[in-house]
Amino acid sequence: MGIEQKLPPVLATNLEKVVGLCRANSIWPMTFGLACCALEMMVASSSDYDIARFGAEAFRPSPRQADMMIVAGTVTKKMAPMVERIYNQISDPKWVIAYGSCACSGGIFNTYGTVQGVDEIIPVDVYVPGCPPRPEALLAAIMKLQKKIKSEKFSDRPDLPKVAAG
Ligand code: SF4
Repeated sequence: MGIEQKLPPVLATNLEKVVGLCRANSIWPMTFGLACCALEMMVASSSDYDIARFGAEAFRPSPRQADMMIVAGTVTKKMAPMVERIYNQISDPKWVIAYGSCACSGGIFNTYGTVQGVDEIIPVDVYVPGCPPRPEALLAAIMKLQKKIKSEKFSDRPDLPKVAAG
């Protein structure tokens, strides 16, 4: 953000908490359905599961309008460069959920054409195993991610200079 550089440390810490709270409760997911797991991800946004309770209902088809990527499905080696490019197009700060065993570890596809976990190409914040995981598991992952976002510090951002300690 930049403003924290001009604040005394005590105010910068409080600002970190406020910013973390706001970010955690206003996640903008980018859908990235690659295979069958995508169907369960879509169900998570239905009225039955009400993902809006977590401030994460505004699914976006464009990386320019999102700050969280849900990789749902099998990542093939052919798709891997696209996955990486789309991740790079999301502005910082950004987060990733690997949804389903395929995205977590390649799942049942231990083959020459499948990436054995999307974390081989982009960083992952929360892993959701299952083939497919149920929509409730995605909600649980979002709650985990919210906890993580709330505890993030400005100094965790490699693109910003560190806040002075003291
Ligand atoms: S984890 Fe199972 S359901 Fe999900 S994409 Fe892989 S094979 Fe399909």
